[in-house]
Amino acid sequence: MHTETNCIQVAVMVPLRRIFSYAPPPDTILQPGVRVRVPFGRGQRIGIVIGSARCPADIELKTIERILDTQPILPIALQQLIHFGAAYYHHPLGDAWATALPALLRQGRPLPKPTPWGYRLSASVTPTSPRRPGKRQQALLNHIAKIGIVPASDIPALLRHTLRQAIQRDWIEAVAHSATTQQGLPSSHHLNTEQENAVAQLHAARGFRAWLLEGVTGSGKTEVYLEAFRPHLESGGQALILVPEIGLTPQLVERCQARFGTYGVAALHSAQSDGERLRIWASAAEGRVRIIVGTRSALFIPLPRLAMIIVDEEHDPSFKQQSGWHYSARDLAIQRARLENVPIVLGSATPSLESLYNVQSGRFHYLTLRQRATGAAMPEMTIVPLQRQNLLGGLSPTLLTACRETLEAGHQVLLFLNRRGYAPAVLCHDCGHVMACPRCSASMTWHHRQGRLRCHHCGHESRWPRTCPTCGSNTLITAGQGTEQLEEVLRQHFPQAPLWRIDRDALHGRDAFAAAITEIRQDRAALLVGTQMLAKGHHFPAVTLVGIVNTDQGLFSADFRAPERLLQTVLQVAGRAGRADKAGRVLLQTHLPDHPLLQSLALGDYRAPAQALLEERRAAGLPPVSALALLRAEAHQRPRIEKFLSAARDCAPPGLSVSGPIPSLMERRAGFERAELWIQAPNRAQMQKQLGTWLAAVGKLPGAKSIRWTLDVDPLLL
Ligand code: ADP
Ligand code: ZN
Ligand code: ZN
Repeated sequence: MHTETNCIQVAVMVPLRRIFSYAPPPDTILQPGVRVRVPFGRGQRIGIVIGSARCPADIELKTIERILDTQPILPIALQQLIHFGAAYYHHPLGDAWATALPALLRQGRPLPKPTPWGYRLSASVTPTSPRRPGKRQQALLNHIAKIGIVPASDIPALLRHTLRQAIQRDWIEAVAHSATTQQGLPSSHHLNTEQENAVAQLHAARGFRAWLLEGVTGSGKTEVYLEAFRPHLESGGQALILVPEIGLTPQLVERCQARFGTYGVAALHSAQSDGERLRIWASAAEGRVRIIVGTRSALFIPLPRLAMIIVDEEHDPSFKQQSGWHYSARDLAIQRARLENVPIVLGSATPSLESLYNVQSGRFHYLTLRQRATGAAMPEMTIVPLQRQNLLGGLSPTLLTACRETLEAGHQVLLFLNRRGYAPAVLCHDCGHVMACPRCSASMTWHHRQGRLRCHHCGHESRWPRTCPTCGSNTLITAGQGTEQLEEVLRQHFPQAPLWRIDRDALHGRDAFAAAITEIRQDRAALLVGTQMLAKGHHFPAVTLVGIVNTDQGLFSADFRAPERLLQTVLQVAGRAGRADKAGRVLLQTHLPDHPLLQSLALGDYRAPAQALLEERRAAGLPPVSALALLRAEAHQRPRIEKFLSAARDCAPPGLSVSGPIPSLMERRAGFERAELWIQAPNRAQMQKQLGTWLAAVGKLPGAKSIRWTLDVDPLLL
């Protein structure tokens, strides 16, 4: 007869798709969500207690080494969110936990002791200490007596010691939360009817409900978010705003602070130090900070009084993590709202087809702002055909003339080109050989200032080749334009105009970016040249001309989402133009002026072309109308991945339609051959039902241990 014993199940923070069992230390009760240090292999690892189970007594279990928390490190709803997210994206649970926790907690550091929000005089009339207060202490006591509750942040560092003594002697006591009923400042705007309607609907919300807020650029969406928060904040609630990019946090934090500073506002993003992040994380968990503005990872910050979630610029692909745990912060935010039973708003001027589809199928409610809040007109869009034009560094005479006129009028020009470097390729003028990265199936980008050829996919670098490796010719030329070249051409052509290049090469770190933005906001003539970084959410009030230098780049990609992204990017960039009193115009340079997508884009409308793309997806059986997952594999030899993927395809259950293996869009990267299987199902639920058992079988295939493979559920970038 077998006897059984109690064992603890632990999600160890390693990328393995399984849970491990350990013997509990004697006389302890372990709650799920508590961190433990466990023996693992030859060393030790941090893990999370998941639960307990009965194990056969004859199995020899290792014992949990140390218990790191007295309370679960995350509230139950967030534990469930991580478990849901790990299951949905088929990612190892321990690694999902590791991704969700701040670095220091993941490494086993203790949770910082709660810092009191403030202090008040102790309730006990007769202090337990027989001693009388000294001079400094008396001064502090008098100060507190006068004000009532003094916020910790208002007590000068010099008095810390005095404060500690006064607490020890029981003269004053800590107050955990801001019990403040102080109100935020009123909005400086009178909301227009559409804004009023949106805010009213959000105020009326009780419990979970998801909205899409579609509002043209500058329509006052942010204003709606802030006013939607107001009653929640007044009754002690907390709000979470997710943004796709670090660069967008400062302006949003500023606006929240200006209005709701009394409630405590903080940003959370990857440019902060580990210590800083942990401090903010802890203050949110204690309820001392009431509004959190953060990038993807802020999704997992504990907010005990969460009342509303906002996902701003929800269409942005940056919400999807591209390595490790491939989760979508937008989609998991919806799940978090459901688990915490609070409303969530996804906002965008150019909603993702996913969200439009969710509105049409009744899963999301819909709010819209059709007018610019400031009364400014939407910019006028014009297609500039490039055929047979004399181009100067990729710029047509029409665009150059428009630039000159704009600068002469004292306004700003924004030129968008989504390509860093000087030129995307270097080739031989005699035989056409393109200098390719030796490790990737991609051409090397020429960076003129550093004098280097660089691969944007693996970082490989080399010098300008003396001769063509194929024919020995020494006439090598650059092909195409990047932002660095555009900058050079513009400086020659408009030597007087101040110029800002906004891309990752020109600006390092968020401070450089913020500094540039501040300069640009000065109302004077300037040229702005930039990549994607310029396209997102910023307000450039003096810009009245936008030039899309290479519109066609988005039309030739093999990624089925490229047209959607082109539409979104162009309209987002266009939205930077002519914000306040000055009308704006947008010039789209293209070799395909008759392309239907560009034709409807030129009308400045998003919905009609977006709807057309959605119909195309429906016809092709692609997301969001169906569910898609990719099984990607890479190894040094192509036959090995093809054999592995074919075997995986052959063991797929009948409910999944699996095609491939096909070479990935980028066939070789960093020395690895790459290929993938496309897995399709009529909807996400059916996909989920089958993926788990299939993956278990895939994990047992020969090669599964030696080939690198990942599953990407709802992939965004091919
Ligand atoms: P979005 O988030 O949609 O881009 P914002 O909320 O940033 O829009 O608003 C765009 C501009 O319009 C801001 O300068 C904002 O101060 C202003 N604004 C917003 N609502 C109103 C309003 N009701 N009346 C006047 N100006 C407004
Ligand atoms: Zn050659
Ligand atoms: Zn490379």
